[in-house]
Amino acid sequence: MLQAVARREAVMRSVPLALAFLLVAAANAPAQHSRHLNELNWMEVEELVPMRIQTVLLVVGTVEAHGVGPNGADNLVPEALAAYLADELDGLIAPTIPYGVNTSLDEYAGTFGISADVLKPLAKQVLTGLTKTGFRNIIVLNGHGPNFDPLNEAAIEVFRETEARILVINWWSATEHVTEEVYGQQGGHAGLNENAAMMAVAPDAVHPELYRPEQATPFSDAWRAYPFPTPIGLYEPGEGYLDFDRAKAERYFRRVKEEMLAIVRDVITKWDAGGH
Ligand SMILES: [Zn+2]
Repeated sequence: MLQAVARREAVMRSVPLALAFLLVAAANAPAQHSRHLNELNWMEVEELVPMRIQTVLLVVGTVEAHGVGPNGADNLVPEALAAYLADELDGLIAPTIPYGVNTSLDEYAGTFGISADVLKPLAKQVLTGLTKTGFRNIIVLNGHGPNFDPLNEAAIEVFRETEARILVINWWSATEHVTEEVYGQQGGHAGLNENAAMMAVAPDAVHPELYRPEQATPFSDAWRAYPFPTPIGLYEPGEGYLDFDRAKAERYFRRVKEEMLAIVRDVITKWDAGGH
């Protein structure tokens, strides 16, 4: 009898210890959920948003010829940025809108897009859905220039109609100074900067053996051509030709990620400070 009491007391004493151990273990465990909305169930989303997570990253790209890189470069590069930013900002990643507004490269095989009249309402409905899900900060990572205007039109309408805070950002414009810093020159469409990003993200999808410098043409304010004469367009004459140094490309893309994080963080911090 005495032994049984002693045993029970010993068990009772160890219960709080075990509980405390479990609590400490739970607090130190890494996030157990995926960062991709594609991979979360409704109960997980309900638990996470907006109580724990307020930020979502939405990639909008297109399918378009990119020189010796893949036609999906405008989806793949911002998707890599979204993965990095989601970890750094403790955000989630929405499924990509992979079709965008193409203009002058439609003649190149595998290139096709949707019109601005289709992209704008599509983006608007996706942004509205993300707002309704409970996200407070919607970061639109655009991979393709002609998407910018329809995306902003959609963002402005959703911002006016809801409580959402929306940032639409073109990664290659936001990081022009990084191209200067690492390469000492400007890039181009499928040019030095974009090709370097692609090499850092998916090196096997870039084919240096197919590259000819004559596949690149400087853009001009004086003329437009349909189709554009080459799949690579340069921002400045004599600059932006491809460089296949892999280590340099990785260094460039690390800096791109850091700069993108700094910009997004700054905007969110100021939204918060401004009480928006
Ligand atoms: Zn591109």
